[in-house]
Amino acid sequence: MIVAIDGPAATGKSTSAKLVAQKLGFTYMDTGAMYRCITLSVLRNHISLADEEALQLLIQEMDIHFERTDDNLVVRLNKEDVSTLIRKPEVTSHVSAVSALPQVRNHMVAIQRKIAKNQDCVIEGRDIGTIVFPKADVKFFLVADDIIRARRRQLDLKAIGEERTIDELVEEICRRDRFDSERSHSPLKKADDAVEVDTSQLTIDEQVDFMVNRVMNH
Ligand code: C5P
Repeated sequence: MIVAIDGPAATGKSTSAKLVAQKLGFTYMDTGAMYRCITLSVLRNHISLADEEALQLLIQEMDIHFERTDDNLVVRLNKEDVSTLIRKPEVTSHVSAVSALPQVRNHMVAIQRKIAKNQDCVIEGRDIGTIVFPKADVKFFLVADDIIRARRRQLDLKAIGEERTIDELVEEICRRDRFDSERSHSPLKKADDAVEVDTSQLTIDEQVDFMVNRVMNH
């Protein structure tokens, strides 16, 4: 069974996807982390986004691996634990441009489909219910108020030692959503058959319970 969770930045996708997967005993896949890994590699190797050959080489040599611990997800890029590094502002500010490249998307989507083959998965991202798994069994599209999203992101960043103001974060989150929604290749978009969940006023338990119930009653 495939459960797709899409939505704009900081709407609670990762937190709820992780817990929903845990409760259902499904595999959890964070596709944003995959796009963040390639962005980190692009930055480290100073690769121009116009250099298709260099990008191809980089993509081919990349090995992304997820390890689930009790309450966390360790992301490994060619064996290195990059879980914190990929959340740093420099990666965040470049990830939308890297993710908009068809060459990058085609490769990532192929990996995502391969991982989800023959296992129950909760997959979160931007194009899961529309492009990666248009036939997903259950689809959710999470939304939340801008200020609330910025507050959540501020807490996430504080946990990795980054201090940002709410104004900066509202600006950053909305700019990224605009870019992700307006790109021509698999833009961020609610699938027609996705259930919209506004997480602004919901506790984590409430949103997880709602989603788990919906999946169980499918
Ligand atoms: O979910 P997260 O904020 O970590 O995603 C980072 C970025 O990765 C998004 O802003 C978007 O540009 C890209 N992304 C994507 N398609 C996905 C998941 C993430 O384009 N399925």
